[in-house]
Amino acid sequence: MTVGLETRLRDAVGAKTAAALTDGLGLETVGDLLGHYPFRYAQRGEQTDLGALQVGEDVTVFAQVKAAFTKQTRPRPGKRPGSLLEVVVADEAGRTLALTYFNQAWRAKELKVGRWGLFAGRVGQFRGRLQLNSPQSRMLAGDGVDEADAVEEFAGALIPVYPATADLPTWNIAKAVRTVLDLVGRPDDPLPSAIRSRQHLTDYATALRQIHRPESFGSLGAAKKRLKWQEALVMQAALVRRKAESAQEQATPRPTGGAILAAFDAALPFELTGGQRQVGEEIATELAATHPMHRLLQGDVGSGKTLVALRAMLQVVADGGQAALLAPTEVLAAQHHRSIVEALGDLASGGELGASPEATRVALLTGSATAAQRRSTLEEVRSGVAGIVIGTHALLYDGVDFADLGLVVVDEQHRFGVEQRDVLRAKAQRPPHTLVMTATPIPRTVAMTVYGDLETSRLTELPAGRTPIATHVVPYTDQRWMSRAWARVREEAAAGRQAYVVCPRVGGADQENGGDGENGDAGTDDKRPPLAVVDVIEELRNGPLSELRLGLLHGRLDADEKDRVMRAYAAGQLDVLVATTVIEVGVNVPNATAMVVLDAERFGISQLHQLRGRVGRGEHPGLCLLVSEVAEGTSSRERLDAVASTTDGFALAELDLEQRREGDVLGAAQSGTKSHVKLLSLLHDVDIIEAARQDAMAMIVADPDLKGEPAFAALVDDLAADRGEFLEKG
Ligand code: ADP
Ligand code: MG
Repeated sequence: MTVGLETRLRDAVGAKTAAALTDGLGLETVGDLLGHYPFRYAQRGEQTDLGALQVGEDVTVFAQVKAAFTKQTRPRPGKRPGSLLEVVVADEAGRTLALTYFNQAWRAKELKVGRWGLFAGRVGQFRGRLQLNSPQSRMLAGDGVDEADAVEEFAGALIPVYPATADLPTWNIAKAVRTVLDLVGRPDDPLPSAIRSRQHLTDYATALRQIHRPESFGSLGAAKKRLKWQEALVMQAALVRRKAESAQEQATPRPTGGAILAAFDAALPFELTGGQRQVGEEIATELAATHPMHRLLQGDVGSGKTLVALRAMLQVVADGGQAALLAPTEVLAAQHHRSIVEALGDLASGGELGASPEATRVALLTGSATAAQRRSTLEEVRSGVAGIVIGTHALLYDGVDFADLGLVVVDEQHRFGVEQRDVLRAKAQRPPHTLVMTATPIPRTVAMTVYGDLETSRLTELPAGRTPIATHVVPYTDQRWMSRAWARVREEAAAGRQAYVVCPRVGGADQENGGDGENGDAGTDDKRPPLAVVDVIEELRNGPLSELRLGLLHGRLDADEKDRVMRAYAAGQLDVLVATTVIEVGVNVPNATAMVVLDAERFGISQLHQLRGRVGRGEHPGLCLLVSEVAEGTSSRERLDAVASTTDGFALAELDLEQRREGDVLGAAQSGTKSHVKLLSLLHDVDIIEAARQDAMAMIVADPDLKGEPAFAALVDDLAADRGEFLEKG
């Protein structure tokens, strides 16, 4: 039979191997296996760092046998005497590791002093020494030993090391790969040949062969470049095509100039920033067009995005349409509702007696509404009385019907996926305009990939009169510093201002993280569990903040309670809010000036930046104290110092990207075996991504359905079918 990339593995390699590849690694076809790339390449004489092994880790090490001796073990009651083979292996730097085998004396024959091999097993410890107990092994050819024992898979200079499982060591994967490489011969090249030659890319068959069995670093590099290009081009073609398709859709134009927007602008107590005006005009023009807008609005916390979105909503409302604002949490939805109603003033009194004719109604729809509330809100939405509808994912449910949905605004996109955007968009008669707002500064590569189907705008300046936030790292174990930190909170309160205390964990009976975005990295198994809000509030109440009015906010409170606490805090009835990251996004209390983040090292860079954006939103300077017990000179401490050293959200986002695993950026799907982006790095492959985007645009313009490149089109379709998974972020 002929074997192609689509062939099932069981028809290409033995049934047992195929089953192990499928069960252990999720690989089903020949193409899946060839897409299971080595994660590194061992080299004879390289420094496998035996010093860096961790107990409990499953490892494959490359090392040389230094000593081997067999002992008889003493007979124990009921046990016959046995043999213990002890082998010492070393890396190039001379660091050693013990291997032990019980009753496998025969192994001494292959584990001869001087031979190099790969050893796979779980790192254990015996009498303070690291060891592998009965590791699987594969000895290499050469080194003056019997060639017949040597393994052919390792004939090359660079030895592929694959992500493996306990049942399936890397050399078995290497063997299966070699088998299928021989069977498939030279599969067709899906990359358009024009692009291949222009970008000087190796052909597909060669690239596959060289990434699995490289002849040299040079050929490996060429193979990687080629495969990355393919990933980038397929991804960009899918995004560009999606963009082109939505540009073909017919939207209801919502021309500018309605009375409600004019009335709103006239009543604004401040001037729009230059950026707000410019982006506002861009959006106004797009809303007036006959094709739907798809725009991403980026702007650091406090840059005034919500105002830009509100003005867009009013433009649609003025034209008789409705606007929906999708928020990630109930706290945020409720807050948006409050602040939008407040900003609109009389203009939000639509349907009430004596309301001005241009007024509308602002509805709030969350999961926690009572049945009666929900019924009346749904009616307002259905009848069109509510011009602006704010809600959480509850907006997405069946039964939420709009009279004429014209604009979908998504706040803090990273909590929603493309799919959810699409569910909401489907509630409109014609494709609605879409505006996605994010306060997480997005590095260029991420904008081109994760958000690559959207046009982007940026608000780069903060409204005038903002005072910068001063950030300091405070050592948790230093009593003097800590009492000074709490004294600062008391001083702010004494001056009539407010503070936040943020902890990574909710605490209480349930040790897990709460929902609602409380995603401080509570999982690290350190000596002590991360600090929990329910404990910290007690300590503060009975200690340094006993004189102050404290409130508690976390995702496990019911919605009414959350709303009550937020209202009390916003109204100044509480001095300090002890909270989890529920306050991370969008919470806006301009009178809050201080924030103390406890166990700060448990949060990511961008998350800390988001958190501190909650303070210094008014006229008074903000203060952020990052409390941590990590030692100076550690990478965790460096992250905190970086956050303390700059308030440039874009610089921090780039740094964050550098430190996060790529998979976290593109979403879980990326780390899956079937993922479409395996080699491409959002951090290091900016050039490839940019060039691929250009090429993809040219391709789609010339041939929108990619009819001329069927093999390439199939890859793009495949990706598009998975795009929900692929584009969705965490
Ligand atoms: P973002 O959503 O980008 O975090 P917001 O739209 O919530 O920012 O704005 C933060 C605060 O700044 C709000 O209180 C808002 O009323 C205020 N604000 C917005 N634009 C301006 C402006 N041009 N001048 C002064 N204050 C502004
Ligand atoms: Mg906001």
